[in-house]
Formats: sequence, C-alpha cells, structure tokens
Amino acid sequence: MSQLTFYLIQLYIKWGKRKMPKKRKSGGRSKGSKGRSKMVQCGSCGAQVPRGKAKRVTQYKSLVDWSLGKELRAQGAYFTRQRVDKYYCISCAVHRRIVKVRSKITRHQKY
Ligand SMILES: [Zn+2]
Repeated sequence: MSQLTFYLIQLYIKWGKRKMPKKRKSGGRSKGSKGRSKMVQCGSCGAQVPRGKAKRVTQYKSLVDWSLGKELRAQGAYFTRQRVDKYYCISCAVHRRIVKVRSKITRHQKY
C-alpha cells in the first residue's frame, strides 16, 4: 500500500466519523434522554406534535362577561376562572409570536 492510498483511507475514515452539525443542542425538544413523548394536537392547525416539541400556553378565562363581572366584582363577588391549556406546534407558535426566531449566536447562548 502506497503512502497516498493509506492517507486517503485514513481521511475517508475520519470523514465517516464526522457528525452533522446540530442546529440546537436539544434538537428543539425538551424530552432529554427520554425515548418517546406522547403526541398532542396543535390548538391552531390540528397537527400531531410530540409533547416535548410543542409549546404549551396556559390561559385563564372567565365564564362571566367582562362588563357584568366588573359590576359584580365591585359589589364583592368572586368568580372562578377556567384554566385552558393549549399546545401549539412550532410553526403556529412562531406565527402567534409565542416564540421568536433567534439568530445562531443567541440560540447558542446559555441562560
Ligand atoms: Zn400548528
């Protein structure tokens, strides 16, 4: 085996071991080393998204009308609010400005 072919084989092995660059350390998910996460439905487009990848938004909604509730609250009434959990896929979350597109530098910043 000549020196050149030996060098080329070594280079080939080195390239084979190369990994593709990762855009995000977590792969855009929050599951960590867990295997599979359950699927949830996007509240906007209806897509099936893994729970670790979806964005959860919690809203508290009052069942009483705002103007009526304001008058009754002034008289000392108390209303319970209904908690509404919604999941959004990433594209819908970006569209609704729940998450923002970040540059490469800010993506790799540690908080
Ligand atoms: Zn969606």
